[in-house]
Amino acid sequence: MEVKVEDLKVLFSEEQIQKRIKELAKEMNAFYKGEDVVAICVLKGAVMFAVDLVKHLDMPLQMEFIRLSSYGSAMSTTGKVNAVDIKLPDLNDKNVLIIEDIVDTGLTAKFLIDFMHCNFNAKSIKFCSLLDKKITRKVDIEPDYYGFEVDDKFVIGYGLDYDGYYRNLRYIGYKEM
Ligand code: 5GP
Repeated sequence: MEVKVEDLKVLFSEEQIQKRIKELAKEMNAFYKGEDVVAICVLKGAVMFAVDLVKHLDMPLQMEFIRLSSYGSAMSTTGKVNAVDIKLPDLNDKNVLIIEDIVDTGLTAKFLIDFMHCNFNAKSIKFCSLLDKKITRKVDIEPDYYGFEVDDKFVIGYGLDYDGYYRNLRYIGYKEM
């Protein structure tokens, strides 16, 4: 599939995304009630979402970045999660908030949550994803927080790429097949 920006249909506009982020942050501010949080941004897809979200969080917060990959070609998953770069500080007794772009099969989310449980005795582990593609789930996992549910479309923009491109779009779009 060739993707040109003029062919994309807007699924979630910049305004919708920013409004939803503020709502999520409000929920999180109420949940954590000023407790320290370590926010872990899963690169590269969650970068836009994570930086916008944390600006609205008002507790003492540290940010960490990890890099995983599961997509083999532009639009198809390998079904295997590769830990490309996971270097984290000691997360024992910390409130860990994992920030992802999208939960699709759920394999990445499961890998990360298992990784945290295996390596640390965290105070809490919460998983937040901007998008939730519930319909394509292969493992039994639900994000604690999500922005929007999407159906089985390949979505692009606001961090989500097509073959490395379009992460810089301010909206989330898709190409109608
Ligand atoms: P999962 O492990 O849940 O199958 O997939 C998670 C990862 O697959 C996401 O972090 C994202 O990188 C990629 N992914 C899944 N669905 C889409 C999509 O619709 N668009 C894009 N650009 N990436 C996706």
